Amino acid sequence: MAKSAGEENQQKAFGWAATDNSGILSPFNFSRRENGDDDVTLKILYCGVCHSDLHTVRNDWGFSFYPVVPGHEISGVVTKVGKNVTKFNIGDRVGVGVLVGSCKTCECCEQDLENYCPRIIFTYNSYNPDGTKNYGGYSDMIVVDQRYVLRFPDNLPLDAGAPLLCAGITVYSPMKYYGMTEAGKHLGVVGLGGLGHVAVKIGKAFGLKVTAISSSPQKESEAINRLGADSFLVSNDPEKMKSAIGTMDYIIDTVSAVHPLLPLLSLLKVNGKLVTVGLPNKPLELPVFPLVMGRKLIGGSDVGGMKETQEMLDFCAKHNITADIELIRIEEINTAMERLAKSDVRYRFVIDVANSLSQ
Ligand code: NAP
Ligand code: ZN
Repeated sequence: MAKSAGEENQQKAFGWAATDNSGILSPFNFSRRENGDDDVTLKILYCGVCHSDLHTVRNDWGFSFYPVVPGHEISGVVTKVGKNVTKFNIGDRVGVGVLVGSCKTCECCEQDLENYCPRIIFTYNSYNPDGTKNYGGYSDMIVVDQRYVLRFPDNLPLDAGAPLLCAGITVYSPMKYYGMTEAGKHLGVVGLGGLGHVAVKIGKAFGLKVTAISSSPQKESEAINRLGADSFLVSNDPEKMKSAIGTMDYIIDTVSAVHPLLPLLSLLKVNGKLVTVGLPNKPLELPVFPLVMGRKLIGGSDVGGMKETQEMLDFCAKHNITADIELIRIEEINTAMERLAKSDVRYRFVIDVANSLSQ
């Protein structure tokens, strides 16, 4: 018989888990492996709340394995290192993002693209090769192979920096890969949530002109005054959208729900590029005519490899980019999830794990 969550490993751990697709989280005892020779153990201090956590706890994508302890924007301090660990020492400020393992030998892993390894091991809702299950960062500690641990630059705060580990790299990586960083070009960012608000800041740091494209008119003044966008478009205002047709070089689409692509493709210039990083639970319709007639490109992108994630953290530290956060206690997580579902967050919830998670 399979061992229970509390018995399959040697170390006791404690977190909050969803046990069914209601997505409601509640206290949960489980276990983590002992720190191995290549491992780093972290005391978790903060964990961001990504919309992927919400999709997973509610089983939007149809592959949730309950119980699920979500959380893949994890920051904390090192409490233990194995004898082969060269990159980290006890007391270091570190982070863990969306992945905690990969095969290390395939073409993707060899090119520092562990995020595309066919045998990728996600931080939660996934299994290790030995059959034990992974649980995420809404918990007190985690044990991770050093390859998948990131170093926090000295001036990057552990609370507002944590969301960069998923939201930050998810928008930084496609901007680099698809060549969307040429200063002076015009970037549209669709959806002003966790990913989108960081995309605005990173776009400005690359010297782009940035327009936020939002379904929430009330976010306009913050988008411009607080996040630094140059302009703001309400996506369901046909007049405003019409006035911006053919003005953008690049678009990053972070929307978490099914939505039409046609109005967005119309905003692009000839040769424009739209990268979608949002993961709605149903397919989007692909309008072929505007793509063909304007030689436009649509691409996708999934977080980033470890090397690039470190590069992104260093870039954000250099440009003083952090997430705008609402710091919550773990007891507030179910209300926070409800608000996230309604696009009501300014702009990322972060759980104050160390100060609120106790048995
Ligand atoms: P979020 O904070 O909830 O932001 C999503 C934003 O999309 C909302 O704030 C809202 O912005 C807009 N939106 C939501 N529903 C909409 C609708 N029906 N029509 C139009 N706009 C709508 O979520 P997030 O954490 O940024 O994640 C966004 C998506 O990216 C999720 O699907 C998540 O799973 C996915 N994701 C992908 C990756 C990857 O590697 N590719 C990594 C992380 C997350 P406005 O109010 O401004 O309209
Ligand atoms: Zn995420």
